[in-house]
Amino acid sequence: MTPAAQIEKRRPLTRAEFGQLMIDQEGRCACGCGEKLQPMTEGVIDEHLRALALLGTNALENRALYRKPCARKKTDEQDTPRIAKAKAQAGETGQYARRQKRGQGSIQSRGFDKTRTKRFDGSVVARQSQETR
Ligand SMILES: [Zn+2]
Repeated sequence: MTPAAQIEKRRPLTRAEFGQLMIDQEGRCACGCGEKLQPMTEGVIDEHLRALALLGTNALENRALYRKPCARKKTDEQDTPRIAKAKAQAGETGQYARRQKRGQGSIQSRGFDKTRTKRFDGSVVARQSQETR
């Protein structure tokens, strides 16, 4: 009933795991910006490729090293809206939850989410007309 029960707690990488990812990524940021990781100066964040809140795990396969500014960008632009959507789909928040509280009678169809559109690569983004960027 509660998907929250399956969410793992964040586990920091060991030094060996951190070193392994550094080697695997050839010392470069995992976001694709091509910049070198600078642990001593700007800082490096070990991100979860799939956020824990979206049932990602702490396993090394789900971890990647990001430059600090890139990690913040990933969290803000990808994880936060996806987590919000997952919560809405799980019935914790959003239109469905509000309708549930009001009672069964008001539910006809959830319909399609007209505020979002799917790109060819499968990612779901806000529609152009609604973009505030
Ligand atoms: Zn980057």
